[in-house]
Amino acid sequence: MSSIPLLVNHQRDFFASGKTRPLGARLDRLKALRETIRKFEQPLLDALKQDLNKSEFEAYATEIGLVYKEISHTLKQLRRWMKPKRIRTPLTHWGSKSYVIPEPYGVTLIIAPWNYPAQLALVPLIGAVAAGNTVVLKPSELAPHVSEVLATILEEAFEPGWATTVLGGVEESTELLAQNLDYIFFTGSVAVGRIVMTAAAKQLTPVTLELGGKSPCIVHNDANLKLAARRIAFGKYTNAGQTCVAPDYVYVHREVKQAFVAHLKQAVEEMFGVEPLLNPDYVHIISGKHYERLASFLSDGRALIGGMTDLAQRAIAPTVLEGIDWNSPVMQEEIFGPVLPLLEYGDIEEVIAAVSARPKPLALYLFSESRELQQQVVDRVSFGGGCMNDTLMHFGSPYLPIGGVGESGIGRYHGESSFFTFSHQKSLLLQTTLFDIPFRYPTSRWGRKLV
Ligand code: NAD
Repeated sequence: MSSIPLLVNHQRDFFASGKTRPLGARLDRLKALRETIRKFEQPLLDALKQDLNKSEFEAYATEIGLVYKEISHTLKQLRRWMKPKRIRTPLTHWGSKSYVIPEPYGVTLIIAPWNYPAQLALVPLIGAVAAGNTVVLKPSELAPHVSEVLATILEEAFEPGWATTVLGGVEESTELLAQNLDYIFFTGSVAVGRIVMTAAAKQLTPVTLELGGKSPCIVHNDANLKLAARRIAFGKYTNAGQTCVAPDYVYVHREVKQAFVAHLKQAVEEMFGVEPLLNPDYVHIISGKHYERLASFLSDGRALIGGMTDLAQRAIAPTVLEGIDWNSPVMQEEIFGPVLPLLEYGDIEEVIAAVSARPKPLALYLFSESRELQQQVVDRVSFGGGCMNDTLMHFGSPYLPIGGVGESGIGRYHGESSFFTFSHQKSLLLQTTLFDIPFRYPTSRWGRKLV
């Protein structure tokens, strides 16, 4: 018999014991988690190298550093977030007081993807524990070394009733989703997001879905092209493009295309070398299947930059493609790799129309010096979140909520948003017994006065 139902029941009992609720206990667990991550930092860095060829610099900057930042932010703010919030009471309710009280849901399930296998598992976990829940974490089977280290970290930092890991893939996820859970937090593809939400609907379990999609990046003719090129190269080729909020494609103004490409070439060479496939720190593609899919896009257009591949290492050089339109295969799905198609435009209206005609993206980036243009794009295009004159950096702030809209996701997290995502907002009215207001009760001429 599978151990999953037993595990979930055990967590349910543990939650019912009340041990996850006191502020002090939550803070202790988060500190223990931080200490345990510190202890296993080297094995975690080694595992990230093994699974994705992430360099220590990149692993620290985009995974472990982010986790430490999230823990310290949460430790500082948790007392404030947990406080019942006194809110207004209408005059009709004279004599009473109103509060909203954050309450943990209970047993939560976190399903994580492989692309940032440490932080996309641990950052939601921090929110779930801070909010007083128990957690079953299901990391990705495609990053098996990181998943093993995560299991060890959780085992050392928590009792299994509080937080534990279930290793495995679709089979284990499916069984977990069939349990009676109180909250499901899923990060992954749109297709699996639909499966998760369908399973959750059967038990009316609330969900957060952190999904993906094609995130546009717009370079206008008044942009600082050198900076734009550097920041786009960073956003697109970090983790070899396997980033949910990476710019999927660039819409560049026709007048500046040539100059922008020249700067982009220079930026790529500065960051990844003239021969990126020989760079020992350049991230590899996670699996043979994804490698084949990405390599097939290379023939969709002409490579202005890159285009080289290495099957043995599953590596694809940072690539920029021209001669692409919306009918090209590379524009039919989220790329999730180091291939950057360039589309040209002359009028921003074309861009607004093309982006708005498609599923709402997770992120949008605009490079322009014009506040007016920035405002126009923000007002008229719906997207999860993004940056003006930068890429990815909104994801690194514990103060900004992260989440999609439409097909790119439901709900948001990071910092305070994580805490409230994993908390039910319980409304409470405290009524006085010192007096009563008679007008609220029905009066009937058939009513009988008892006294
Ligand atoms: P995925 O959807 O294939 O897998 C994610 C998780 O779901 C894994 O743990 C996997 O084991 C599990 N899973 C897979 N099939 C399942 C099924 N049929 N039933 C239940 N569970 C199943 O996604 P991925 O390939 O790991 O990650 C890439 C996708 O994730 C991209 O679309 C990317 O944009 C998205 N993503 C989004 C964010 C975000 O913050 N919004 C972050 C990272 C990745």
